[in-house]
Amino acid sequence: MDIAVTTCKPQERKALFKNILEVPFGSIFTDHFFIMTYQKGSGWHSARIEPLRDICLHPGALVFHYGQEIFEGLKAFHRDDGKIILFRPEKNVARFNRSARRMCMPEVDNEFFMEAMLQLVTLERRWIPKQRGSSLYIRPTMIATEVGLGVRSATDYLFYILLAPVGPYYKEGFKPIGLYVTTEYIRAAVGGVGEAKTGGNYAASLLAGEEAHKAGYSQVLWLDAVNHEYVEEVGAMNIFFAFGKTLVTAPLNGSILHGVTRESVIELARHLGYTVREDRLSIHDLTAGIEKGTLTEIFGTGTAASISPVGKISFKGKEYSIGNGGVGPISQKLYDYLLDLQYGRRADTFNWLTVID
Ligand SMILES: *Cc1c(COP(=O)(O)O)cnc(C)c1O
Repeated sequence: MDIAVTTCKPQERKALFKNILEVPFGSIFTDHFFIMTYQKGSGWHSARIEPLRDICLHPGALVFHYGQEIFEGLKAFHRDDGKIILFRPEKNVARFNRSARRMCMPEVDNEFFMEAMLQLVTLERRWIPKQRGSSLYIRPTMIATEVGLGVRSATDYLFYILLAPVGPYYKEGFKPIGLYVTTEYIRAAVGGVGEAKTGGNYAASLLAGEEAHKAGYSQVLWLDAVNHEYVEEVGAMNIFFAFGKTLVTAPLNGSILHGVTRESVIELARHLGYTVREDRLSIHDLTAGIEKGTLTEIFGTGTAASISPVGKISFKGKEYSIGNGGVGPISQKLYDYLLDLQYGRRADTFNWLTVID
């Protein structure tokens, strides 16, 4: 399939951000987007890159009622040598298609998806901020557009890719966050859609998030749905626990999102000499580990922040501080390594980067 390209006239191009540090996450977009249409019977068609515009949908479109929607999130980085890189984009493409299968939505050809993304990023390269920690966030999305109120998988879909320049996650420097353990709510259950990057998971997490914020913590620590005991994820990140030189993270049991950062940190940590176990950890072993001092570091992993060190955890009205409450050495080492790789200060020995010249 060819991609028809219509670009803005020079005078229609938006002014670039002045200071990327002052741009709230995902609040501005580039000049163009990629979009294509699916109809049952004809498949994907009318692939095009065109000036970013509103899309017009009937209020009865299935996405608005039954939530058939999936998305991805990845980043393009401007390297010090002027080249643009994407970090393991093939992982996001594969995960998008796994989400599509789970949500009864049509898959997108992996190679075509990649080509569309690379072509769009190349066209918009002037929008990629250069400061370390900043990047061009890529948001592929699919929605069900068929009109109808019957509960079923739709026959019609839109797939589009948005690009948003984003600043560093840690604007005031790399700092630990506080977590709030919810014993009332759950994020996902085995057999549900926790493994899929689908909008409903995030809507379902908002109430617990508000409770955490009211209590003075920035993210929710999610426990498993059955026992309300085993740690699963943090906010929209995977989570790691360091017991000395051993890292523990929840196994991919069906309710946990397969993070690309999670997978990369597992490989990287092993390469750096740590032992990594994919194993359940109960909230009681977690708090006991903090109190005994055997649990020395906790950090979240995800595309947005890369590594997110955790300084304190609130569980049943008690606050537990990890280590000295500062950034631990393993978090710092992994964070520096990933950023050095993304900004071209370190050789791509793992073969993780897709380079655009
Ligand atoms: C996207 C996401 C992650 C992190 O995945 P990355 O591929 O590392 O960005 C983890 N948990 C949830 C619930 C997510 O939505």
